[in-house]
Amino acid sequence: MSTKVNFQSVLKWSDDECREYLEKMRWPDGPHCPRCNTNHPYIITRKAETKNKIKSVYKCRNCNRQYTSTVGTIFEDSHIPLSKWFAAIFLMCASKKGISAHQIHRQLDITYKSAWFMCHRIREAMRDKNAFSPLTGTIEADETYIGGKTRGHWTLKERMNDEVQMGLRPKFRHPRMDKEVVFGILERGGRVRTKHIKEMNSATAKQILNENIDLEKSRLITDAHKGYKQIKHYLPHDVIKHEEAYVRGDIHTQGIENYWSLLKRGLYGVFHHVDAKYLSNYLNEFEYRFNRRKISDEERFEALMSQTQGRLHWFCKSVPA
Ligand SMILES: [Zn+2]
Repeated sequence: MSTKVNFQSVLKWSDDECREYLEKMRWPDGPHCPRCNTNHPYIITRKAETKNKIKSVYKCRNCNRQYTSTVGTIFEDSHIPLSKWFAAIFLMCASKKGISAHQIHRQLDITYKSAWFMCHRIREAMRDKNAFSPLTGTIEADETYIGGKTRGHWTLKERMNDEVQMGLRPKFRHPRMDKEVVFGILERGGRVRTKHIKEMNSATAKQILNENIDLEKSRLITDAHKGYKQIKHYLPHDVIKHEEAYVRGDIHTQGIENYWSLLKRGLYGVFHHVDAKYLSNYLNEFEYRFNRRKISDEERFEALMSQTQGRLHWFCKSVPA
């Protein structure tokens, strides 16, 4: 099996080669039972050819469960060959602004529906599940608004006029009411973390900052949104008033704003429309790539292959602990 990993090579791997690679990435020190974590399982070699063509399975010495390397991962119960899965992961890790399920469907010759499910499972694997270290140093925080029908020429006023013409009593709406709010923090020159929130206010900001920032070793820079007013009581805080200037010395929020434009170019340009209930999945995907932007596409692929455990909850019949 060739050890060089790239889009072309993974497409040529046989199913056995893919399984061998997956095992190496998932269990660097040998197979472990997904249910009870016991190692050194029995190996059962299948004599007759089975429908899924898996030649051997593991059987746990402790709980007697039979398993393969895909059990409990995003690949579980999928009928798509692993080589196509690997190629899809490669494409998603390598495309800076993301890749649509339509393009994966065309490029890998699978149905659109399969491509869509694969993309969502891969996004799930891109979530940083393990405890991560808090952000430190100079940190920029900002919020952004995504989607919504008031974007573009159909303004709030026109909408209210429409309602009057329809004989309805016009309801007051905040211009951003039907947009989704995303809160983000960025460590200058380092990592980003974003979260889909219901509403931007000081309680939400405080909670996210507390969970993600090392308050002792950090300093925060934001715009003049009133949600940040209380921050100075627990974290050194500089404000850049955008009505006055966008940069004052090293006080600016251009790092996080650049990230927003990358995210929006992807969301609007590649995905066109993102359903609010999946927005946090897309945020995972962009965050995953951005936080690993200094490594190569191959290394990004390998990093993902080592965290494929855990399936989307809404696909699950049962998830081994
Ligand atoms: Zn077991």
